[in-house]
Amino acid sequence: MSLLSIRDLDVRHGLLQAVRGVSFDLAKGEVLALVGANGAGKTTLLRSIAGAHLPSSGRVLLNDEDLAAVPSHKRIAKGIALVPEGRRLFSQMTVEENLLLGKTSGRKGEWSIDRVLDAFPNLKPRRYAKTGHLSGGEQQATAIGRALMSNPDILLLDEVSLGLSPLVVDRVYAQLQALLTSGTTIVLVEQDLARAMSVASRVICMLEGRIVLDRPAAVVTREHVTQAYFGLHRAAGERSAP
Ligand code: ATP
Repeated sequence: MSLLSIRDLDVRHGLLQAVRGVSFDLAKGEVLALVGANGAGKTTLLRSIAGAHLPSSGRVLLNDEDLAAVPSHKRIAKGIALVPEGRRLFSQMTVEENLLLGKTSGRKGEWSIDRVLDAFPNLKPRRYAKTGHLSGGEQQATAIGRALMSNPDILLLDEVSLGLSPLVVDRVYAQLQALLTSGTTIVLVEQDLARAMSVASRVICMLEGRIVLDRPAAVVTREHVTQAYFGLHRAAGERSAP
């Protein structure tokens, strides 16, 4: 049984259809890189999985349970945690206070403040600092840590690199490495194709709201993904066989 199943998902922003007939299954432990050009629909898809944006049709199933009637805060309790683009921390609260917010889902598991601080050692000296005073890399680590504190079954990471210098991105990914290889199921939206492909077990490329490529990372080449990214390898709307 798949951990997550997306079935024929259509998602709109008013008149604009941002996600078109998207279907895929995600098994436990997969690290899925969701790539595609600006406006391809990646963020909208992640937000629909997290329940932050309701689809106009189609289904999101977690362990075969249809989540249509489950609002976003209850999806966290069911095991879906989103690290949103732009991090959305409470800037007047400390790192520790932001992390503790992740605990409010009530899910039991191995993540604690100490474990997050071990995974992201740059946060240790900043534990009692307000997050508004942190660097971009420290804020990103806090946002990921807050999501982990809910002990998710699936972690949705939306553009963790956004607004960070290449050096800081390297650090964030180095810290993520342990997570990426620990069996945590992750959907990673990432603009940097090379980086996404280097950490993922599977790659899905979206173009204009549709999936145009869905392959195991081990068998897909960068050229293949780049062609799908720009809609060059076949007509948009046609899905590459897994
Ligand atoms: P990016 O990398 O730029 O974030 P993306 O692949 O994540 O792109 P989305 O942000 O999901 O794409 O956007 C998909 C489409 O939906 C785009 O055409 C975008 O302009 C539109 N869109 C996104 N959010 C909204 C919104 N709140 N209101 C109206 N249109 C939106």
